[in-house]
Amino acid sequence: MVEEPSIAVITGGASGIGRATVTRFLEDDVYDLVACLDIAEDVEKRFEDESIRAFRCDVTDHDQVSETISELEGEGRIDAVVNNAGFSKYSWIGDLSPDEWREIIDINLTSQYNLAHTAAPAMYEREHGYLLNVSSGAGKRGSASGGVHYSAAKAGVFGLTKGLAKQLSPYVRVNCVIPGLVDTPLATDSNLWTETELEEQAERIPLKRLAQPDDVARVIHFLCDEGASYMTGELVTVDGGSSLS
Ligand code: NAD
Repeated sequence: MVEEPSIAVITGGASGIGRATVTRFLEDDVYDLVACLDIAEDVEKRFEDESIRAFRCDVTDHDQVSETISELEGEGRIDAVVNNAGFSKYSWIGDLSPDEWREIIDINLTSQYNLAHTAAPAMYEREHGYLLNVSSGAGKRGSASGGVHYSAAKAGVFGLTKGLAKQLSPYVRVNCVIPGLVDTPLATDSNLWTETELEEQAERIPLKRLAQPDDVARVIHFLCDEGASYMTGELVTVDGGSSLS
């Protein structure tokens, strides 16, 4: 019998941590295809490798996610989903409108439900799969640079991860990565931090530097691999020791 191609799906894969994760997944021989779902207009032009399929997809939109997952399931079996897409904004609570609240909850939390809802049941039926949700230290401590909507959404990811890990056991392992400050456009090219603030933050980190995207991608890859075969429902912090203080 010919085996179906194995597919890994990575959201927000066009930039930063997601892009580094796409590269990590490509480097091993486990997956025949790595699918990148991203809202970036030029997502299809950002990759040249024929083992990558780029989809312009807004992961907050359940219909778009459902269509993309169905299309991929026609090409093979989805064995891993990395819910990485995210976005942060600063708003003082008094200025935080209901629309902006929903926007940030949708991109950082509802998107992860959308992928789990559309992709996880088939993994469960096949009795094999990995889900990995990206959160943030903002969910543990409250965001230093973003608003309370970002902190709330990232804390919501903890509950989503643990609930899914219970429901989908023993077949699908579900874990969460909690990055500290990472050198990506979200931190460096947004108006969340000035360059001086980033330098000050780096000085306070015990390992004395921001994370590079691949520092996080390596842990994501590990959790979606057999090396982590006895881990599920875990929240794994990758913050250079920032949580020590
Ligand atoms: P990034 O801005 O480099 O990449 C985020 C990607 O998500 C972009 O390619 C963007 O186009 C995509 N995206 C945004 N909205 C989308 C949508 N609606 N649909 C599909 N794709 C969408 O940022 P990053 O730092 O790599 O962030 C990745 C994850 O890591 C996010 O969940 C973020 O909250 C989390 N995180 C980042 C940091 C940090 O310091 N950079 C710290 C903690 C957690």
